[in-house]
Amino acid sequence: MRSFHETRAGRLAAAGALALVLLSGGCESVQTTSAGAVGIERTQRMSPLVAEADLRKQAAASYQQILTKERQQGALNTDVALTKRVRAITARLIPAAGAFRPEATNWNWEVNVIRSDQMNAWCMPGGKIAVYSGLITKLNLTDDEIAAIIGHEIAHALREHARERASEQLGAQVLVSGAVMAIGGGQASADLGNLFYKSFFGLPNSRLHETEADRIGVELAARAGYDPRAAISLWRKMGSQGGASGPEFLSTHPSPATRLADLEVYSERVMPLYEQARRGR
Ligand SMILES: [Zn+2]
Repeated sequence: MRSFHETRAGRLAAAGALALVLLSGGCESVQTTSAGAVGIERTQRMSPLVAEADLRKQAAASYQQILTKERQQGALNTDVALTKRVRAITARLIPAAGAFRPEATNWNWEVNVIRSDQMNAWCMPGGKIAVYSGLITKLNLTDDEIAAIIGHEIAHALREHARERASEQLGAQVLVSGAVMAIGGGQASADLGNLFYKSFFGLPNSRLHETEADRIGVELAARAGYDPRAAISLWRKMGSQGGASGPEFLSTHPSPATRLADLEVYSERVMPLYEQARRGR
């Protein structure tokens, strides 16, 4: 005996309902962060089918898979001093994240360094961070510049940009495919894993997301006592190398001139926070 959902008619009805949810503005409007000194106030639209907790679970699983693979290849945290340095910087940035999202300070944060020529770094939902050694060694980054890049990545996670991308992707998928997605049970969670992986590693952040991450990133650095102006030298160095590679650095980044001009303004705006943090240290 097949249940309604398993029949073709059932699937179509379910798909139709799903499409309706997505088409009828079934997305929820959320504020993932408070505005901070940099004033990020954009309301975000999230699909109810991409729950934050589920996405975090997928991210954690995906993260462990990546670590296992890198460990097997002898590329995980091989440079002890570099790993220690990256972790120490991150440990200062995490409390600063509380200014945007108090509960984020309790996330199950993890930071690992992957030995690779790739110039790349990312932070998955829920605070799972990877920094590729090439980014630091090729660009000879200072601690302030490392704080700038990690602050930027953390900002993507605080703003749940991955969930936003997954929500958009899901909407597009449903519309294009006529919604052959099965709902419920293992299939749905398998789909979410796939959706997360594809949208996290396969789709670039929008310019809007990049700009938000830049602005929140400088504030996180400043609050942690790192010179927020280092974001400017970081992106200059990045530009001089012909750009970095990897998912975080796909093509939709703001044009270098636009990005630098914006960082000039926003790093200046958070200078008082930096001075204050320095006095407190
Ligand atoms: Zn970014």
